[in-house]
This record gives sequence, C-alpha cells and structure tokens, in this order.
Amino acid sequence: NVDAHVVYVPVNAHHFLVMALLYDITELKGIERMQMDFVGNVSHELKTPITAITGFTETLLQGAMDDRQTREEFLKIVYQESLKLTELVEDILSLARIDSKPQLNISELNLHDFIVSILKTFKPELEKKQIEANLQISDHCQVNIDKSKLQHVVNNLIQNGIKYNQTGGKLWINAKIRKNDWYLSIRDTGYGIAKDEQERIFERFYRIDTSRSRQNGGTGLGLSVVKEYVKALSGKIEVKSQVGVGSTFTVTFPLEMKDNPS
Ligand code: ADP
Repeated sequence: NVDAHVVYVPVNAHHFLVMALLYDITELKGIERMQMDFVGNVSHELKTPITAITGFTETLLQGAMDDRQTREEFLKIVYQESLKLTELVEDILSLARIDSKPQLNISELNLHDFIVSILKTFKPELEKKQIEANLQISDHCQVNIDKSKLQHVVNNLIQNGIKYNQTGGKLWINAKIRKNDWYLSIRDTGYGIAKDEQERIFERFYRIDTSRSRQNGGTGLGLSVVKEYVKALSGKIEVKSQVGVGSTFTVTFPLEMKDNPS
C-alpha cells in the first residue's frame, strides 16, 4: 500500500529523468503491530523526509538545477520535508523529555487571557480555512498550572481542531472551574472520529487516514504528547466525537496543583 510522488526532470530535449518517491502508507493493524518498537517507528518516520531531501537535492546538484520550474518544484518539496522533519524531531524530543522526568513549574494563570493569546497565534491558519473560533470562558477563570505544558496541550488540540476541520467550519473553546477541578474543551465541526478509533488516536504514530493526515502535515505524535503532558499535570483527557459532525476534546485538571507530584 504505497503513496507515490512522481517527478519528471528534463535532461535534454529528448530525455527525461523520472524520479519516484514512494511512501509506505500501510496501515498498522492489530495491537501487536501497534506496540512495535518506538525506535523502529521513529527511524522509519525520520527516514522518509530525509530520503526525500537527500534524493531531491542530489538530483538538483546533478543538473536539474538548470531548469527554473524543476528547481522551484524540487526546492518546495525539500522545504516541506524539512518542516516535517522539524515537527517530528520536536515531538520526539517532547516525548523523550516527558518520559525521563517531567518537571512542573506551577504558577497562577488567567485562562481567558491565556486562550486569547494562543488564538492570536492561530489567526493566519483560522483565516486560511475561514474557521470561526468562539471563546466561552469567563474573564475571572484563575487556575494554578504549568503554563508551558498547558500551552503545548492547547496548541496541539487547537491545531487539530483546525487541521481536521472543514473550510468554513467552527471551533468552540470553553472552560469552567468546578468545585474540585476545572476543564477546558475544544470542539470542532470536522471529520469526526469513529468510536473504535477514539482511543487509538492517542497511541504514538497512530493516524486515522494516513494519506489525509499526511496531507495535513501530521506526525501522528501530537496527541500522544498531549496525553503524556496531561498525565504529568495530574489531569485526564476525553474525546467525544461523531463522524461527519465533529469532535470535542476535553482536558480536566485538579484545582489543587502541587509542584512535581510523584
Ligand atoms: P497528527 O500529527 O497526525 O495530527 P495526532 O496525534 O495529533 O497526529 O492525531 C492522531 C490522529 O487523530 C490524526 O492523524 C487524525 O487522524 C486524528 N485526529 C486528531 N484530532 C482530530 C480531530 N479534531 N478531528 C478528527 N480527527 C482527529
């Protein structure tokens, strides 16, 4: 099961060099295969963009550079694959860091202002897909939390809420403080997630539709990082979703946060 990218490079007036880039999109099936060694997965995922970058630059250096259109097309691929590599390395490093020993840095935070400032950074992506983001958070929501870890969680959930949303869709961000805990939920009007996939999306490298997720530039690591961060913050994450309607991801945290719980 393979995704192919074929490029024709004019060598001279009569000959073309045909370059095919093959992506293995075989769906990982069954629990045993899903538990495949993390290192194996990592090296496979890293090799794909590296192979593309090496292959395309090599062809450019061998003469493809002379043709302006080819040069642009190849450089675009090299650039996109470099971005993907960066995203992958960042996610892998986040997982490695949290796996070793999560350090917490608890401080007081106004949830309303925090979400407003995060949403600002997503403005270009929201505008590009014409997604309307609605905030339902009181101005007085003060919580104690590790700001940078929560930021990572919220960034990932909002990013997915945009990536897997439809053009012209909606996003609702809602937060509330209760007696002993507080929650934050992000609801989208996207593809939705089937019941039997709702747990699996938190597994490392799991993607529902590999070609669709690849198009969206996903690494398949985002939600596993989110899950680890939420755990480090003594919280929990839940998803409610309906295919074709949308998804709601809710994170819940205790009101009493201690530095570095054992
Ligand atoms: P990725 O980097 O591929 O987005 P994630 O770990 O963030 O990886 O998500 C795993 C998979 O779960 C995604 O590939 C996508 O298929 C699915 N998914 C995540 N969030 C959503 C959402 N809000 N709506 C629909 N599908 C989602």
